[in-house]
Amino acid sequence: MFWDREVETLPRPELEALQLARLLRTVRRVREHVPFYQQRFREAGVDGAALRSLADLRRLPFTTSADLRASYPDGLVIHTGDEVVRLHTSSGTTGKPKALFFSRSDVNQAAELIARCLVMTGATRQDVLQNMMTYGLFTGALVMHYGAEKVGMLVIPAGPGNSERQLMLMKDFGSTIIHTTPSYALYFADFVERRGVDPRRDLKLRKGLIGAEPYSEETRRKIEEGLGIEVYNSYGLSEMNGPGVAFECRERQGMHIWEDNYLVEIIDPDTGEPLPEGETGELVLTSLAREAMPLVRYRTRDITSVVAEPCPCGRTHRRVNRITGRSDDMLIVRGANVYPQQIESVLMRFPEVGRNYLIRLEGLDEMTVQVELSDATFDGQFEHLLKLQERITEKVRAEVMVKPKIELVAPGSLPVSEGKAKRVIDNRKL
Ligand SMILES: [Zn+2]
Repeated sequence: MFWDREVETLPRPELEALQLARLLRTVRRVREHVPFYQQRFREAGVDGAALRSLADLRRLPFTTSADLRASYPDGLVIHTGDEVVRLHTSSGTTGKPKALFFSRSDVNQAAELIARCLVMTGATRQDVLQNMMTYGLFTGALVMHYGAEKVGMLVIPAGPGNSERQLMLMKDFGSTIIHTTPSYALYFADFVERRGVDPRRDLKLRKGLIGAEPYSEETRRKIEEGLGIEVYNSYGLSEMNGPGVAFECRERQGMHIWEDNYLVEIIDPDTGEPLPEGETGELVLTSLAREAMPLVRYRTRDITSVVAEPCPCGRTHRRVNRITGRSDDMLIVRGANVYPQQIESVLMRFPEVGRNYLIRLEGLDEMTVQVELSDATFDGQFEHLLKLQERITEKVRAEVMVKPKIELVAPGSLPVSEGKAKRVIDNRKL
């Protein structure tokens, strides 16, 4: 099952030759047309024209999220070439967003990559995709939408939230695939359960394309159990077209990253030095086919590693492992480095734990984790709760080396987010 068999199975030497040709073109274009890159290359004392091999890439400077914000609104756009037809912004939290422009061919290429991803999961034109991501400035929904239409399936642009309506659409139009965030998928699984709906019997859902936030293997299992679907891990970022940068094939052992479009590096986030293949560090991407706004050595802040072994599915594009966190998300609690993902992964191993949790940092470095109990196990017996609380405390402590205060709370009592989940509240006075 391939959308573009030739490109997806291109032998490595040919793939790398294609990467080099596209890299040289990309570097030439930014050097000719983008003052920001002209200046950066000059400051770094490198001449983009002197690039000879893929390995020479490491001589070029990085591009960061701060550079994109500083270039707002349109400092990095290239207007020569095909028309710039679309604006998206990053889902930033504070201040000015990152403005991201797409040319006509970028829009088309983004849809092509999504089509590869969808077909790679076994999806066909007979599927019905209920797109529960946010439509608007965020790339998540629109880019997936265009790609799914390209495959030829019916797309329901449901957007996020309004679970009542989601369920109605799903029943009435026989949705077989959902595209959403892990936090909303977990919430929706709860909602469906409370409605007395058995997804295996009452719905036609088969697959979930889950992304936009990092999540753990345990969360994948919870979503699969709750909704009776196979979950496929999806990775992307608006700076690189949005979703469709990397996706799981049916093996579901790492996500194939489309290397004809993106050049992959893994670096040590502290020193910026490239790490040997297989080691875990920050993912750095260079866009190879973007026209309106190519980015060279863009620091994604996402933490992952490259899978070296070839995949049994036959695709030659390498895989990256599940994102274990964003280097921006890393919390320093009493001197220890803590990723919210590590805590989530521990919590989701307990069947007594529900689908929602919140990490609160308060006072002088006190970490409290509020954990919702699952409906099924909430018997209200105080001594059972105490025992569970102790077990969770011990497991989280063993994982992150910081002893948390665990607070068990009733199912449904923590705030629910319909877009990206807010898992950490940091009110420390340090
Ligand atoms: Zn594969």
